[in-house]
Amino acid sequence: MAHALLKGETGEWEMVIGLEVHAQVLTKSKLFSGASADFGAAPNAQVSPVDAGMPGMLPVINKLCVEHAVRTGLGINAAINLYSVFERKNYFYPDLPQGYQISQYAHPIVGNGFIEIDLQDGSSKVVGIERLHLEQDAGKSLHDQHPSKSYVDLNRSGNPLMEIVSKPEMNSAEEAAAYVTKLRAILRYLGTCDGNMDEGSMRCDVNVSVRRPGEELGTRCEIKNVNSIRFVSQAIEYEARRQIEVIEGGGKITQETRLFDTKAGTTRTMRSKEDAHDYRYFPDPDLLPLKLEQKFVDDIKKSLPELPDAKKKRLIASGLSPYDASVLVADKERVDFFEKVANNNDAKLAANWVTTELTGALNKAEKELSQSPVSAVQLGELIALISNDTISGKIAKEVFAEMFATGKNAAAIVESKGLKQVTDSGAIEKIVDEVLRENPDKIAEYRSGKDKLFGFFVGQVLKKSGGKANPGMVNDLLKSKLNQQ
Ligand code: ADP
Ligand code: MG
Repeated sequence: MAHALLKGETGEWEMVIGLEVHAQVLTKSKLFSGASADFGAAPNAQVSPVDAGMPGMLPVINKLCVEHAVRTGLGINAAINLYSVFERKNYFYPDLPQGYQISQYAHPIVGNGFIEIDLQDGSSKVVGIERLHLEQDAGKSLHDQHPSKSYVDLNRSGNPLMEIVSKPEMNSAEEAAAYVTKLRAILRYLGTCDGNMDEGSMRCDVNVSVRRPGEELGTRCEIKNVNSIRFVSQAIEYEARRQIEVIEGGGKITQETRLFDTKAGTTRTMRSKEDAHDYRYFPDPDLLPLKLEQKFVDDIKKSLPELPDAKKKRLIASGLSPYDASVLVADKERVDFFEKVANNNDAKLAANWVTTELTGALNKAEKELSQSPVSAVQLGELIALISNDTISGKIAKEVFAEMFATGKNAAAIVESKGLKQVTDSGAIEKIVDEVLRENPDKIAEYRSGKDKLFGFFVGQVLKKSGGKANPGMVNDLLKSKLNQQ
């Protein structure tokens, strides 16, 4: 159940969750410098003097980051602010050489928006989004490389991030997981973030509080940098329980920042919560306020791709079940593949082949969709052969196995193995007659009322034909012969 209440010793509790998602903008270079923003380079190989916080260096805004922030804002149904301001958020950290992070505070580039999340029981829910702003990432301290030294890697320093802040409107771990899943799909469709949580290009700060149903919001704790959807759920479940125990034990929740221990599945105190005024935000004197023209926003709006919700509706209208549609839509790469397969083909049949046969074969071979030996066009050709009665669905599975193993086209395999369906009524009639001749006792049983035997006759004919007889024709012929006394 989505909106489940938690039982405590003293009654029921409701959890309240708000998420801050940091999504790395998909660009070649950093937010204010020309250094590469790619993942995985040797330590400190991608650091410009700006990223290293050298005195006198001037930041220059990366236009593509601004475009992507606007594109994302439009994709989450949000208001775009034509006027926004970059501010310095001051704090000390060994991996923050500037001594401040350039972020946006009072005037973010994107204001209120919302996304619709899909829940397991088939229902959906709208979750509000407070804002989206652009900011720099910090570097990374490495404490596990040397017994007595810490190292600093500044490759990440200055990488472009979009911080997307939800309203505190989720009430279960399931809803939070569905929110991250949907947001990630939207970012991938838009092409503004790759959404790879294991590479850190998408990370979540999870805010959790509990309250009695219907009461005011409780005090929240923020769990920092959770890097998988499963951990988001686990952290929420643990943290809500912990807070209930504290309150029911007569204690109080203090607002603080906590860490999720992925091995133990627990959260622990990291530091007490700082407030905005602790950071001494002020407008960055090196950067002018960002002023956008409405036309810039309108042009981006015109170029938006079809997003998951719209695609899902369209796929359902084309004949897919809501379940199949949501499975496909959840994965951008898979739905793109599906649409190529379904081009000029029956949508339902195409969906079955992609989600069952192909996915099954890929899993078995431990391959990704991008490594599929059968291309979308090839799979589409196979399905067309089923639809135009060249081969039966059963033979198609054989052909598919061969395609998967060899990469050959369906038509070539059907041709060389002589798998074409027999639609010559004379040839089929011959087999039907043979089967009837061999089974006089079964015919008598059938005629005396054992209708179920019909399937037996069909099976025998198909078997004798090597699976190649057209099943519809076999049915028709058998029916007319068995029913004439
Ligand atoms: P900060 O940077 O101080 O954490 P933000 O405004 O960036 O502040 O983010 C606050 C986040 O905490 C939002 O996602 C919001 O929905 C969530 N939040 C605020 N109050 C609560 C609460 N009582 N319980 C759960 N989440 C909350
Ligand atoms: Mg926060």
